[in-house]
Amino acid sequence: MKRIIPTVLSGMVSVVLIARAAEDEANLPPPEETEYWTPVPAVVRTPAGGVPSDAIVLFDGKSLDAWEPVNPGSKGWVIEDGAMVVVPKQGQIRTKQSFGDVQLHVEWRSPAGDTEKGQGRGNSGVFLMGRYEFQVLDSYENPTYVNGQAGSIYKQHPPLVNATRPPGEWQTYDIVFIAPRFSQDGKLLSPARLTGFHNGVLVQYDTVLRGATTYRGQPKYTPHAPRLPIELQDHSDLVAFRNIWVREIKLPARE
Ligand code: MG
Repeated sequence: MKRIIPTVLSGMVSVVLIARAAEDEANLPPPEETEYWTPVPAVVRTPAGGVPSDAIVLFDGKSLDAWEPVNPGSKGWVIEDGAMVVVPKQGQIRTKQSFGDVQLHVEWRSPAGDTEKGQGRGNSGVFLMGRYEFQVLDSYENPTYVNGQAGSIYKQHPPLVNATRPPGEWQTYDIVFIAPRFSQDGKLLSPARLTGFHNGVLVQYDTVLRGATTYRGQPKYTPHAPRLPIELQDHSDLVAFRNIWVREIKLPARE
């Protein structure tokens, strides 16, 4: 008998608790309240090993048509074995088209057998808007100042890790770049930001740029157009590029 009474009481408590839980759930807002159906995200086809269907192909291994030399009179770069290769002293090349906020995919290869050291080995760069450099360098067992190694925002922010493959191997950069905003009278409203992956590894996360890349002195912002060409650097090293594509992105306003 002594054992039965607690069992009965505990059963009654359980029944009450279950009833309260059901009542609480009935008082919750309907799930539909937090579900919305428009606007519907655009469909992007993503073939395995291919280019997203909404990307602009900047280099497909066959043609340099999307590019032009920055310096007047320059012959530009050359295509060798499906890659476009720096021609030393011909200067930087830039896209004919201008871009603002982008997702950019670039593959690059620093030359094997280069015995130079530091910044002299496999140096090039991806210049967003022609002025914000995401550094290309052979940083495989090649020390230099850390905010100048591969995956750095040159002379500003080192990469989170060094993901560089040995020279002679193809490497990937995937960059999300948000352009700076300026007011009509040239004041900086919001700085440029960059997230970057090197060979699939995160090396920059929403990094705030301090201004345009500069070799000497502190970087600073100078007002410029909302869209400008992407440039690739001639640093006199025989760096090769291939499979370059870009997606223009439109982010929702931040809350
Ligand atoms: Mg460079």
